[in-house]
Amino acid sequence: MKKCEQLYEGKAKKVFATDDPDYVIVSYKDDATAFDGLKKGEISGKGSVNNRMSNYLMRLLEKAGIATHYVEELSDRETVVKKVSIVPLEVIIRNVSAGSFAKRYGVEEGIVFDEPTIEFSYKNDDLHDPLLNSYHALALKLATKEEIETIKSMAFRINQILKEYFAGLKVKLIDFKLEFGRTRDGQIVLADEISPDTCRFWDADTNEKLDKDRFRRDLGGVEEAYREMMKRVLGE
Ligand code: UDP
Repeated sequence: MKKCEQLYEGKAKKVFATDDPDYVIVSYKDDATAFDGLKKGEISGKGSVNNRMSNYLMRLLEKAGIATHYVEELSDRETVVKKVSIVPLEVIIRNVSAGSFAKRYGVEEGIVFDEPTIEFSYKNDDLHDPLLNSYHALALKLATKEEIETIKSMAFRINQILKEYFAGLKVKLIDFKLEFGRTRDGQIVLADEISPDTCRFWDADTNEKLDKDRFRRDLGGVEEAYREMMKRVLGE
């Protein structure tokens, strides 16, 4: 597949057209941002870790019956994915309190929930991605009722699969963010990435953070944490 013009550059990825209108190529960068773009930096090797880990997890999910945008890994940093229109919702699943949940509700981090939670935010940089519920999403016509139901059940199923998978690697899956897209024929598929940028991972024995919180909170050992997650997932 031929890589053509750049369509888009985001905070962590670039997207290129290909000679086939149904496919695009994503290219993962080492750039890192946090706090709504206020904190900027670089995490050396992140692009490669996120690309390869995300692809591995998408293949795992496909095997378990979840439709994803994944098509083919081209290199360390580049992957062919199905061209989709992104549903403008960030879907967050939580198993354990952390981050903005802990802050919003005034609770400590590390409380294990009896049942996972789901929340949505409206993907809109100008509005700083405000939190909304599924009725708001419907009112704003961000997705149809059926699409929202599909997204909810896919997100919880993905959580079951990933939680179990990471437990086997001695990693607790605390919370994570998913994005979904519509293919040309209207199918909802998992899109974007699943990586230490978009998930909170805590070591099962020590609760050491192995994700982007090391960058957000200036904890040090950022590259090492990404590499450790890569090692546990891909064995290298
Ligand atoms: N997250 C993300 N992108 C965002 C916001 C959150 O990937 O724009 C991920 C984040 O890495 C974490 C989960 O979603 O795994 C929940 O994040 P939270 O709402 O606690 O926000 P944060 O504390 O990161 O601001």
